[in-house]
Amino acid sequence: MTSPSALPGPQAPALDLGGRTALVTGAAGGIGRACTLRLAAAGAKVRAVDRDAAGLEELAGHAGELAGAVEPHVVDLTDLDAAELIAAGTDVLVNNAGLQLVRPLEDFPPDVFHTVLTVMLEAPFRLIRGALPHMYGQGWGRIVNVSSVHGLRASPYKAAYVAAKHGLEGLSKTAALEGAAHGVTSNCVNPGYVRTPLVEEQLTDQSRAHGLPEDRILTDVLLRDSAVKRLIEPEEVAEAVAYLCGPQASFITGASLVLDGGWTAH
Ligand code: NAD
Repeated sequence: MTSPSALPGPQAPALDLGGRTALVTGAAGGIGRACTLRLAAAGAKVRAVDRDAAGLEELAGHAGELAGAVEPHVVDLTDLDAAELIAAGTDVLVNNAGLQLVRPLEDFPPDVFHTVLTVMLEAPFRLIRGALPHMYGQGWGRIVNVSSVHGLRASPYKAAYVAAKHGLEGLSKTAALEGAAHGVTSNCVNPGYVRTPLVEEQLTDQSRAHGLPEDRILTDVLLRDSAVKRLIEPEEVAEAVAYLCGPQASFITGASLVLDGGWTAH
């Protein structure tokens, strides 16, 4: 009898985005950068969008042989008209740019609340709006929204971020319902805490808000509810984004793919 390990395993088709154009927002940052490189490695031309010109330049340098596939675009997504325009003609849209401020509600600056909602909810709406005519025209498109566990759960002191991510979940599901008849899927990925500058910069703020030393923030606050006691790597999130762009995911839409080390299993 043939042992099970000797049997040929089912072959998952490799992701092939040759001839496709992708757009990743927040491409200079941790997750966006990993998504840009992953989609470029799958053969896509990637519009790498960020307001951070130096970070985009560094990404292009880091891309090595994929550099030709990465087109840097310096865009501040608070310019919503520019956001809509840059999305025209894309086959794959990854809404990823984000920012965070950790402050109790009564001290939360209204202008920051407004900016967070603009970049993390209104800009994705405008980018989707800009991308859909081309996607609908060809009967194929992939929208992946980088949400968070905070799209599904709240945490104290993150009013704007939690509100924006919950809104993004609703936007993503609506895009899924409208896009289905046109071959367009829309999904969220929902990571727990990822090893990126956004998290590293939070440690000081969190330390002040919780009255705990910084070294205890990671174990006592950030990873408290995670069954797997480590940060997730940006490349692991990018792999989930890539999966949602592949042919084997064409029936997955309106979903939230949770990568949270068991956080929401509680
Ligand atoms: P990051 O800070 O490393 O990257 C975010 C990028 O967004 C930066 O390059 C920044 O320049 C860009 N950006 C911010 N405001 C912008 C604007 N107005 N216009 C254009 N670009 C702008 O953060 P990250 O951790 O890679 O986060 C990426 C996404 O992942 C965010 O949506 C975040 O909410 C989400 N996320 C992060 C974590 C985490 O633990 N890091 C967890 C869950 C979800």
